[in-house]
This record gives sequence, C-alpha cells and structure tokens, in this order.
Amino acid sequence: MASVVVVLNAGSSSLKFKLFEDCGDAEPRLVLQGAIEGVGGPARFAVRDTANNVLDEGVVAESAVSHEDALLHLVGWLTRHKDGHTLVAVGHRVVHGGDLYAGPVRVDDAVLSSLHALAPLAPLHQPHNLKPIEAIQRRMPDLPQIACFDTAFHRTQPEIAQMFALPRSFWDQGVKRYGFHGLSYQYIASALGQYEPRLVPGRVIVAHLGNGASLCALKQGQSIATTMGFSALDGVPMGTRCGAIDPAVIFHMLRSMKLGPEEAERVLYTQSGLLGVSGLSNDMRKLRANEATNACARQAIDLFIYRITREIGALMAILGGLDALIFTAGIGENDVATRAEIIANLGWTGLAVDAVANQAGRPLISMGTGPTAWIIPTNEELVIARQVRDVLRSAQSQSKHSGSVAAGGTT
Ligand code: AMP
Repeated sequence: MASVVVVLNAGSSSLKFKLFEDCGDAEPRLVLQGAIEGVGGPARFAVRDTANNVLDEGVVAESAVSHEDALLHLVGWLTRHKDGHTLVAVGHRVVHGGDLYAGPVRVDDAVLSSLHALAPLAPLHQPHNLKPIEAIQRRMPDLPQIACFDTAFHRTQPEIAQMFALPRSFWDQGVKRYGFHGLSYQYIASALGQYEPRLVPGRVIVAHLGNGASLCALKQGQSIATTMGFSALDGVPMGTRCGAIDPAVIFHMLRSMKLGPEEAERVLYTQSGLLGVSGLSNDMRKLRANEATNACARQAIDLFIYRITREIGALMAILGGLDALIFTAGIGENDVATRAEIIANLGWTGLAVDAVANQAGRPLISMGTGPTAWIIPTNEELVIARQVRDVLRSAQSQSKHSGSVAAGGTT
C-alpha cells in the first residue's frame, strides 16, 4: 500500500490541498490536488488530477462552512477515494515560525501554543493556518502533523539584514525582519541547477510576484536579504497590501485621520496596493485589460514596477552584482508585460529581454552577455512534502537509535 502525505494551505476563506505519494528518498510524487473555496459561506469543493483535469467537484454545504467542516469534507473524500493509499502525515503551510523554527517541526501541544503566540505577528494568516492543525489534533490525534514555515528559509540571513534600527530591547523581544515566501524561495533555490548549473553558486534575485509579492537575494542558494520584514506587509506593493510605507503614515492615520488600529490595519492589508491605487482591482489581469483607458489602473502598475525595480537595485547592491533574475508566482509566471517592463528598467545592468521567449513563456527570457532572466514556476507544496518526508525519516532514525519516538523539537 502506498504511503501518502496531504499538504494543506489554509487561508481565510479557502483550504487548498495536494496529495503526494511518499517515494522514499526520491522526490514525492503529486497524486491529486484541489481546494475548498468560500469557507465561511456555502463553500465549493474541487479535486483535480496532476494535469488539472477536474476529477470531482460540488458544493460542500449551502450553509456556512467552517474550516473544520472543510477539513472533514476533505478527509471524507480522501477516505472514500483511498485507492490503495495510506495517509501517513499532514504537512501544513504556516506563515510564521518566528525565531523558534528555522526548519519544519512536528506539531505537538507545546509547538502549537508557540505558533499561536506568533499570531499577532501575522494576524491575517497565522490563525487560519493553525485551524486545520487543531481540527486534526482533535479528530485524528495520532496522525503526524508537520508545520512548514514561510519564515524559516530566511534564518540564514546575516543578523544585520534582520535588524531594525530600534532600541536593542526590541530585537530581544522578537521585533526583527523575518521575511516571508520562504517555501517558494526554497523551491526556486533547489530548482536552479535544473535550469542552469552556473546559477546555483551565483548572485540570484527571485521576484515572487503574486497577490502577495516579495523579492529575495540568493547567494550560494541561501537567502541573504528579502523585501518583506517583520510582517508580510513590508516591501513592494501587492494586490491589496501597501508594501513599505513611512511608519509615520500610520501615526497620521491614527491621530489626525482618527482611524482605529484595526481599521488602519485593514486599510494597509486589504485596501491598498494595486487595488488601492487603481480603485479598480487587485487582479493584474483586470488592470492590464484596462491600462490603456484607465489612468489609475496604469499608475497602479507603474508603481508596482517602479518599486520592484528599486528593490532589485537595492538587492543587487547587497549581492555585489547580479547573475540572474527569476520571475515566479501568478504575475511573475504569467504577465508578459510586467516581466518586460522590469527587465527594460534594468537595461543598465546588461539585462536584455528576448521578446519572443518572454511572449512564449519559455524558461530563459533574456539574451546577450549580461545577467540572465528566467521564468521558474514555484512549487511550495513540493517543498512541504519534502520537509514532511525528512522530518518523518529523521524521527524514524532517531527512534531506531534511541528506541523511542521523537516528536516535535526546534530545528
Ligand atoms: P498568486 O497569488 O501567485 O496566485 O498570483 C495571483 C496574481 O497573479 C493575480 O494578480 C493575478 O491577476 C495574476 N495572474 C494570474 N494569471 C495571470 C495572467 N495570465 N496574466 C497576468 N496576471 C496573472
């Protein structure tokens, strides 16, 4: 019977999942994938095969569906469609591992409570990430659960890259630049060699441009700097998030504009970025469709590109140059014009777009003798499946050596 692992990515209104077969020391193999969308309301369920063909879909319930209901629906579906598989573990995408976790960890009560304690640092993500973990603990307490963190990959950064110029006591209390999208950057770092072996030891900037967006400088495949900081608000503008702003704007919002802290937070997280500047949409496809006739839509794109260009310059200064620029995530992988505009702004580096390759969405989209530019589709779930495999293996080998089962522990 084949062992399988479910990878869960729980958001405020969705539960995305991928099922991987454990292939021993080889790469985990994707078996199927899907999502429950509309959690909190009458949610819908869809399961797809590896080629994205729909295998099953329908309504979970007409009434409000909780995260726990969504999870139970998924478990029920998987049980009915077992197909000779044994579920051996669940891997969870968890946005914040704080200072405690520089790698994946098996969840127990102590780990769970430490992850809850980090919720104020990622209020819009962390509580949702933890809901399915709690539901599985209640319903299937013996099933190993592994938390995999968006912050962990950045723990290799030099201390200086993680510091704010605040009084030292703030650092001691965890007020530092954590960085996010680490599972995506870890995947890209692991995939570079398949595209061009010379990139592996090189100076690489990865632009993860999706609804959430950030950039990361990789040296020797390790994160040395990134644009997101204490929270996933920092850095470049995003779909609905503002990116870096002068912190005094927040005092102004609170004191002069009389917004409450929750309202100010809501503006910065959900009403800003591409949506806020365009007044139209957070969806790049809609902005592109309207850019010729809607000046605000065009300006939102211009600001997005401008800030990304600026951050690439800053990351290049830290890297001491640039060997390759990688585009990934929804906009990075799909928006031909965004890639072309960013590369055009970087012409001074010797980077030059290959318009035909860019239009065709080929992996290598640059030409000439300067730095190269690539499209590499990200695969955060595969990184989680690999991490689950590694944690289970190391628990097995520890139990072999000590005769006891290892659970949890910081890495
Ligand atoms: P993600 O968060 O990675 O799913 O990315 C979501 C973003 O990718 C949204 O802004 C979408 O508009 C954008 N996106 C997805 N597909 C395309 C496409 N074909 N062209 C332009 N933007 C796209």
